[in-house]
Amino acid sequence: MSKKGILTVISGFSGSGKGTVVKELVKNYGYAVSVSATTRQPRTGEREGIEYFFVSKEDFEKTIAEDGFLEHAEFVDNYYGTPKKYVDEMLDAGKDVILEIEVNGGLQVHSKRPDTVMIFMVPPSADELRSRLTNRGTEDMEKIDKRLARAYEETQYIDSYDYIVVNNDVTECMQSIHNIILSEKSRVRYNPELKSSIINDYKRFERR
Ligand code: 5GP
Repeated sequence: MSKKGILTVISGFSGSGKGTVVKELVKNYGYAVSVSATTRQPRTGEREGIEYFFVSKEDFEKTIAEDGFLEHAEFVDNYYGTPKKYVDEMLDAGKDVILEIEVNGGLQVHSKRPDTVMIFMVPPSADELRSRLTNRGTEDMEKIDKRLARAYEETQYIDSYDYIVVNNDVTECMQSIHNIILSEKSRVRYNPELKSSIINDYKRFERR
């Protein structure tokens, strides 16, 4: 049996730069990233099936009813969910999978799959976050204020995560996350076959 991939959740404030860092992780290290379904309207430049599957509220609810999501949550007036099938197919094929999702969804994944690596990403400061959201120019002031208020609410969930990374620099942040995942993959509990083969190999030296 080939080894299963490892599942990692990356959460963090909207505007923390998660998306950019995750893209770099895919490009440089070949991680599989789940494409979420959302009821939010596409932003300029976003493509169906690439950034998201853009669906109606009815279709989203239908998928919930069919138990098609690994997790789903409401975030600033819209629904977001992770399709279960793709994640399981990738993990079964031995691929390491990253989910870039908000905290409620992250906690759902962790409670269903306790081996998930939980990483929380923050921008260098709150001022920096506000200017990133403003400069992005994709949301009006009211939506930006909602996202900033939501960021404060999310600080209360940091304790549920295993690791916290500060995104000062995309390359450094990508490297830190990759190192965390590599360390997790070396855990004894992820390597039962390696452990058995080591024991078998040394058994011949057993004292009689
Ligand atoms: P945005 O609207 O900026 O693309 O995403 C808003 C928030 O929803 C971000 O924090 C993003 O990580 C999160 N998000 C994206 N996809 C999912 C998902 O499938 N499930 C959950 N729970 N959150 C998601």
